[in-house]
Amino acid sequence: MNGKNGGVHRQDRLLKEQTHDPYLTRSKLKEPTLCPACNVVFSGGRWQWPSEIPAAAYSTLCPACKRTRDNHPAGILTLSGRFFAGHHAEILNLINNKVEGQKAQHPMKRLMTIDEQEDGKTVITFTDTHLPRGVGQAIENAHGGTLDIHYTAEADVVRVFWER
Ligand SMILES: [Zn+2]
Repeated sequence: MNGKNGGVHRQDRLLKEQTHDPYLTRSKLKEPTLCPACNVVFSGGRWQWPSEIPAAAYSTLCPACKRTRDNHPAGILTLSGRFFAGHHAEILNLINNKVEGQKAQHPMKRLMTIDEQEDGKTVITFTDTHLPRGVGQAIENAHGGTLDIHYTAEADVVRVFWER
């Protein structure tokens, strides 16, 4: 899906949690600006899914697509353990549901890659720091286990580990 839930204006919620994200452009973007990779639109001071694609727009990659292009995640979630191995599909499904719901509301919160490693761990990368925490907490709420969250300020990346 490419998200059509962005039609509502919420000027009071100006993505303040992302003010330290180096991928967010400091200089003011002209409006509307369309991301040619994902069709998200910068309008009203923030990136949002458009109800329809503007006929005329400036063009630049959005921060989420830049991170994906650069393979430079803001958050990394590592899943491991015997319980995980036995409930792999179920847990991945939970993750996808959580991600799609968040992405519909917050276009810059996205999953980038899912890497199934040979040692049984699954490593998932994200374009923002809140999504891996939210996903980790959703898994913990549903399945218990151990959740660890490490934030590295200098690297500006959050590493989340869930094991069961
Ligand atoms: Zn984009």
